Amino acid sequence: MLRRLRQRHGTDPVTHVERVPPRDGVPAQWPDWVSEELRLAYGRRGVNSPWRHQAEAAGLAFHGQHVVVATGTASGKSLAYQLPALATLLADPRATVLYLAPTKALAADQMRAVAALEIEGVRPACYDGDTPRAEREWIRRHSRFVLTNPDMLHHGILPGHAQWSGFLRRLAYVVIDECHVYRGVFGSHVAHVLRRLRRQCARYGRADGPTFVLASATSGDPAAAGGRLTGLSVAAVTEDTSPRAGVTFALWEPPLLPPDPPAAAAAPAPVAEPDLTQVRRSALRETADLLADTVAAGVRTLAFVRSRRGAEVVATSARRSLDEAVPGLGGRVAAYRAGYLREERRELERALLHGDLLGLASTNALELGVDLIGLDAVLICGYPGTRASLWQQAGRAGRSGQEALAVLVARDDPLDTYLVHHPEAVFGAPVEATVLDPANAYVLGPQLACAAAEAPLTTADLELFGAGAKEAVEALVQAGALRQRPTGWYWRHRERPEVDLRGAGGAPVCVVEAATGRLLGTVDGGSSHFLLHSGAVYLHQGVSYVVDSLDLADGCALVHPAEPDWSTHARDVTSLSVVSVRSYVDAGPVGMFLGEVDVTSQVVSYQRRRIATGEVIDTRPLDLPARELRTVAVWFTLSPESLATAGVDPADVPGALHAAEHAAIGLLPLVATSDRWDIGGLSTAVHPDTEAPTVFVYDGHPGGAGFAERAYGMAAAWLRATRVAVAECGCETGCPSCVQSPKCGNGNNPLSKPGAIRVLDVVLSNLPE
Ligand SMILES: [Zn+2]
Ligand SMILES: [Zn+2]
Repeated sequence: MLRRLRQRHGTDPVTHVERVPPRDGVPAQWPDWVSEELRLAYGRRGVNSPWRHQAEAAGLAFHGQHVVVATGTASGKSLAYQLPALATLLADPRATVLYLAPTKALAADQMRAVAALEIEGVRPACYDGDTPRAEREWIRRHSRFVLTNPDMLHHGILPGHAQWSGFLRRLAYVVIDECHVYRGVFGSHVAHVLRRLRRQCARYGRADGPTFVLASATSGDPAAAGGRLTGLSVAAVTEDTSPRAGVTFALWEPPLLPPDPPAAAAAPAPVAEPDLTQVRRSALRETADLLADTVAAGVRTLAFVRSRRGAEVVATSARRSLDEAVPGLGGRVAAYRAGYLREERRELERALLHGDLLGLASTNALELGVDLIGLDAVLICGYPGTRASLWQQAGRAGRSGQEALAVLVARDDPLDTYLVHHPEAVFGAPVEATVLDPANAYVLGPQLACAAAEAPLTTADLELFGAGAKEAVEALVQAGALRQRPTGWYWRHRERPEVDLRGAGGAPVCVVEAATGRLLGTVDGGSSHFLLHSGAVYLHQGVSYVVDSLDLADGCALVHPAEPDWSTHARDVTSLSVVSVRSYVDAGPVGMFLGEVDVTSQVVSYQRRRIATGEVIDTRPLDLPARELRTVAVWFTLSPESLATAGVDPADVPGALHAAEHAAIGLLPLVATSDRWDIGGLSTAVHPDTEAPTVFVYDGHPGGAGFAERAYGMAAAWLRATRVAVAECGCETGCPSCVQSPKCGNGNNPLSKPGAIRVLDVVLSNLPE
């Protein structure tokens, strides 16, 4: 099949083919502490022995070692925590287990799995916002396996700890599923919610504390990430011993477009500035053509596209070309549409599994049923942001005994470009790490307030909350939130502190449907200027809305449902000053720094771009106030002499630094799971605080979220990948696949692609490993 697909262009778009061989599972014995009753329960569900990694992780946890299992999709991570948890519940009729999932749906799924084992006396129950009041008390008293989410733990269980005292006193295990989701500011909040949980367990007499079992997607250094999240020493089990089918995995780079005929550049943009050059065929078009080809060959194919609108573009265009070839064949392709009910989605999945439908275009894996696996081919349109999601999507392909196909189609983006030319970054050992920063003062302060409202804080507690807790408590006393007494620090107010786990930096902005007044969700204050300006296309759970107005004073954006065929991209202008330096590396003409900075940024305009082609429709001005942000940045400086020696003309220095900055931001997700809104940048030929040519990259959240810190720690690897991505891009003067950024407030001007390579060479040749 692949051979046929790659012949469709004059040049071969495939940059790499990886054969992921089929693997036999490595079974292990049931550990001897697993009782006959438990073995029989699993036997009834068709599990006759664990895989070795499951037994290993379960054994560590059973003996009280905190552990994270970081293995692939469908490798059976749940058995690793169910075994020690259920064995303990069986052996000790009073013990309890708390399970945390990022979504209610996953918790419900896991509850069904535990309930299906039919083990007496466990009484698993979901406890979340949907749980009827009448059932809550029964659950608190009688369930020994409670499944919930961090928000419920934060807003419900911990503030009401007295009602949970019996449960907390006997808490044997805390299971944290999909723990890689807890990253950035959200992850930093969850880290403190877990510390608050540990504190309450200790207060109710569980002195040695529960054992934590974490399940994570594969990532760089899961033990360290688990340790940061829980504040405990966590062992990692990373070798996947479950069986899998063989997959041929191709990396695909859409071909360069022929140069524009001069007549095409007729339509003038309302704001005159250089546009993003479109150099390559769009990933959506390419995916649509591939889908048409596989369907024409009778191959059952699932195409992953980042937005629902994009998924529809892919399906529609594939249908059209199929109907042109064989009238009626287009009917074998469908897209998940906004507004489909769960049953309708399951029906589409069944049709695809049975071959009535041959092609389906969809957004991410979360809305797909877990049963939709064993397909012949999976097309992934654009890198989904993390390796975990990439493998989750690719993992839908492959039936035992049959070779399946997976294709990653690169978008116009520096990271995608890098990955399709560097298969080792996709198929080798993972480097991207889940980062969070529990020491962020903007998270720590509010969390300590929550803790104090639950029970007065003592000096011993401060140690639990880690670095910065003392200062944060003193600041809360200063602000009048806490009162210090000889016995500790007391929350002074009647009502509990209002703390949102998913945001930092100002009150969240509510997104309200104008016609119905329905609250769709909230966006944190910082991101609202980017995501909710008037005219913005806002995606909520895959459904598309257009913003009518943003009222910052009321903290509210009015939207209406609409599916325009363009996307919007806000641009900001930024200034920055250095507040303090936390750490630095003096490398001769080059300096690398980590520290606090004050950033002032203003969203000034937005671009509308055609979804199907990426073509820029226009750029429209915006009138939004500037925002101030104290955060953490990584920056490097170079001496003007070193740049001159490297052949960067003084006139090119601003463009060289600017291009290096864009590419470096684009490659940051390679070392830290972040997305575009998490990161900002600034470059200048001379900065007043550094008095040298400087490139800054900063965390886009007040107080920082760990991204800049990880970039500083991995600086050489990060910038080496950046240099390679720029140098290897086939364009001549720079394009969105290397040095142009859709988010640039300066309209991608000036930019020097050759200059960026020289800048990065100077840094890399001086920086120690
Ligand atoms: Zn390029
Ligand atoms: Zn820029």
